[in-house]
Amino acid sequence: MHFKERAREKLGDERLQRNLQKIKGKFVGKRRSAITELDDFEDTRDAARAIRQHALDDLDVWLELFEANARARGATVLWAQDPAEINRLVLEIAFRHGVRKIVKSKSMVSEESALDLAIEGAGLEVVETDLGEYILQINGYEPPSHIVGPALHKSKEEVTELFHRRHGTPRKEGIEELCREARAVLREHYLTADMGISGGNFFVAETGSVVLVTNEGNASLATTLPKVHVAISGIEKIVPTLEDVATLMRLLPRSATGQSISNYVDVLTGTRGEGEFHGVDHMYFILVDSGRTGVLASEVREALRCIRCGACMNHCPVYQAVGGHSYGWVYPGPIGSILTPMYVGLDKAHELPAASTSCNQCGVVCPVKIPLPDLQRKLREQAFERRLRPWSERAALKAWAWVARRPGLYAAASRLGVRALRMLARGDGMIRRLPFGRAWTAGRDMPAPTGRTFRELYAARRNGESP
Ligand code: SF4
Repeated sequence: MHFKERAREKLGDERLQRNLQKIKGKFVGKRRSAITELDDFEDTRDAARAIRQHALDDLDVWLELFEANARARGATVLWAQDPAEINRLVLEIAFRHGVRKIVKSKSMVSEESALDLAIEGAGLEVVETDLGEYILQINGYEPPSHIVGPALHKSKEEVTELFHRRHGTPRKEGIEELCREARAVLREHYLTADMGISGGNFFVAETGSVVLVTNEGNASLATTLPKVHVAISGIEKIVPTLEDVATLMRLLPRSATGQSISNYVDVLTGTRGEGEFHGVDHMYFILVDSGRTGVLASEVREALRCIRCGACMNHCPVYQAVGGHSYGWVYPGPIGSILTPMYVGLDKAHELPAASTSCNQCGVVCPVKIPLPDLQRKLREQAFERRLRPWSERAALKAWAWVARRPGLYAAASRLGVRALRMLARGDGMIRRLPFGRAWTAGRDMPAPTGRTFRELYAARRNGESP
């Protein structure tokens, strides 16, 4: 995934850095005030964690129940082992129903299989209808940089230029005008599309329903106006009951965008029945494994509890600095640093679990209590054991482990270390350049230690001395 190279490039991209500065903290304050509306926020988090874990612990049972109930309501349930199978199944459905144009609401799983390119490659038209995804599509299929706001890294001015260029319309100044323009373009596509594709926030086992959570209403239009609806999602998105969805929905919008509830919540169940006005003629579910069962069998299985709220990336100092594209694949931020190595292979993405300050901001805000830094550490251990990390890093860690197991030597080495660091400091008590940590001090100064180790300071305090 070449995280380091990408991150270096993004840190030097002045326009991106300006845009990242503008959105920094955008959702942090909103989330903070939204969760104060709940007296029982921590209890709700515990309940949400339990719901997701319960679903994963008996995943096979819930998936079979979902399949039976969805079929009973007239839907077809298909299973995809890998990205290629997702694309094959979607194209088969499209050709079966004579589809020429597809409208699509946001689906991260379809990003895993580059579905849009496969659809276009088969000679069909596909239009993304989530505003962020639409912006990225008409900008040459730029990858999303955030799981909730795919185009958050773009400024209003960039979108103005893009719309002017791609729509051939006069430049619009305000965000409202830009939205209105996108809406006018997209409405035409909804009305002329033969098939709608959506993701799925939750798949409800007891009813065979898919739950879609949006703010723009695009999913509602994309999944009800065309005659065929295909909902694609990972197998881990299953929840046992609608009651469970209600609990999770108390946390999802609050954690994602700081809203008490999103503008639209669609619960779609089966095809149109006799005498019903609403509903599609054909409904398909494509439930995707593509590495999920591997994660379930691994020591980072808790990552599958994720409900894709994006709070971990909104609070991550690394994500905030380098942006989502640095992570090199579909899922950025702390959750991406776990899922990406698991889905594409740790050998290709071993830099990601190390792209962390281990500050645990992500773990603190995660609504389903995924211990993200712990999971990152487990993957770092695996990378170390599989000799994927550079030899210098492995040698340094081995040397450190050897010293750390010898308390006397460790104390002596620490004493030497803090005194040496003290000597490196300038008059203002800051270290500008560390000999073995130049990358670290390239972008920041390090406060110099007092010249005494933690143990010495602790002992001094216990003896009543001023440290
Ligand atoms: S890991 Fe937690 S905080 Fe991050 S997107 Fe998933 S649910 Fe949200």
